[in-house]
Amino acid sequence: PPLYKQRYEFIKDLVGKYKPKKVADLGCADCTLLWMLKFCSCIEVLTGLDICASVMKENMHRLYPLAGDYLQPAERSLTITLHQGSVAHKDPCMLGFDLVTCIELIEHLEESELKEFPEVVFGFMAPSIVVISTPNSEFNPLLPGVMLFRHPDHKFEWNREQFQSWALETARHYDYSVEFTGVGHPPTGMENFGFCTQIGVFVRKYPQTSGSAQSENTTGTVYKTVFKAVY
Ligand code: SAM
Repeated sequence: PPLYKQRYEFIKDLVGKYKPKKVADLGCADCTLLWMLKFCSCIEVLTGLDICASVMKENMHRLYPLAGDYLQPAERSLTITLHQGSVAHKDPCMLGFDLVTCIELIEHLEESELKEFPEVVFGFMAPSIVVISTPNSEFNPLLPGVMLFRHPDHKFEWNREQFQSWALETARHYDYSVEFTGVGHPPTGMENFGFCTQIGVFVRKYPQTSGSAQSENTTGTVYKTVFKAVY
């Protein structure tokens, strides 16, 4: 399967393992991952955030309930919401999540945004689990036609050492553990290049803090809601 599908399957497997009720996808783009996750019956709240409203709107109609969702007796409630905003800014609507995914997001952040990102995601949102994926630059020589970066909008691409030292330092500072894995296996004999996509899975080490105490630290709503569906 193509690499993006392998990344989404990785998240689906994680959802199957941890059964989160509230899931947020940061940098959700055209909402493909959210659309896949709406079929996971454990999820009751599904939220997407992207800085670009137009990319979210392209396919967001797929997130509306289908006729069958109304005909079948509802076994669970499901609320899907899309917000336009930046991961460099805190908004109380992102509090109380169990799982936060950041798939191929961080390499699109400006230096100043990347600096704010850990405090927003790990310090403020503080979900039980955070998943971050990003290209492994060591794999680039195996990709045809890649000169500097895989995509012109990438601000950087990290090797495993760079990503892991950033992730370990972030985990240490915000009291999370982190484990590294990836998707996209290198060809036989080239295992030393690592995965094409590197992934860090962060697990919070301390128990859930009360959402109200956290939200007192904020100035209020900064994200703009662009979509909401209640199943
Ligand atoms: N997660 C999706 C996936 O795996 O296909 C999309 C990844 S896309 C390569 C990166 C996305 O991050 C874009 O949709 C972009 O608009 C969004 N983005 C860039 N900077 C952002 C920011 N500061 N806050 C939120 N989203 C941002």
